[in-house]
Amino acid sequence: MSMEDYDFLFKIVLIGNAGVGKTCLVRRFTQGLFPPGQGATIGVDFMIKTVEINGEKVKLQIWDTAGQERFRSITQSYYRSANALILTYDITCEESFRCLPEWLREIEQYASNKVITVLVGNKIDLADRREVSQQRAAEFSEAQDMYYLETSAKESDNVEKLFLDLACRLINEA
Ligand code: GDP
Ligand code: MG
Repeated sequence: MSMEDYDFLFKIVLIGNAGVGKTCLVRRFTQGLFPPGQGATIGVDFMIKTVEINGEKVKLQIWDTAGQERFRSITQSYYRSANALILTYDITCEESFRCLPEWLREIEQYASNKVITVLVGNKIDLADRREVSQQRAAEFSEAQDMYYLETSAKESDNVEKLFLDLACRLINEA
């Protein structure tokens, strides 16, 4: 077996306010589970998952922000060499949506200008507590030229689609 047992390797970084479900999205995609209780920790810098797309082995290195989001201390080193960013908010938390422009300024400042950014509204299983409409998020993402998707890490809605669509786009632009 060769050292490089893949055709593509991409670094994907999750950003967004604390509590929006970034860690749960990563755990759902890489481990197929929704961790019980508050505050899912991963304890490593990144998780790896290799997927196959049109016969190509695509290795995804997925970086989760472990608490740094609270202090806005994510710096250039974190964004460096990221091929894609998953900018996450919580559809039941207006505040997490209102912080998006701040995150976009960070992206502008630190990320590569070729980075692909996906806007993700998580926790759609809590539809009765929704504070951010789909239309509002769609308009925002369109204005910022971002791809937009809503997910539930809990119910596994659109999580696979999120990462696989992103991998496809990364291959197409590689
Ligand atoms: P992070 O700070 O962005 O990494 O957020 P976490 O992944 O730690 O999740 C924060 C809280 O939201 C936890 O209590 C999770 O159980 C909960 N959570 C995460 N994703 C979902 C989801 O899709 N639906 C629901 N109902 N709760 C979620
Ligand atoms: Mg987390």
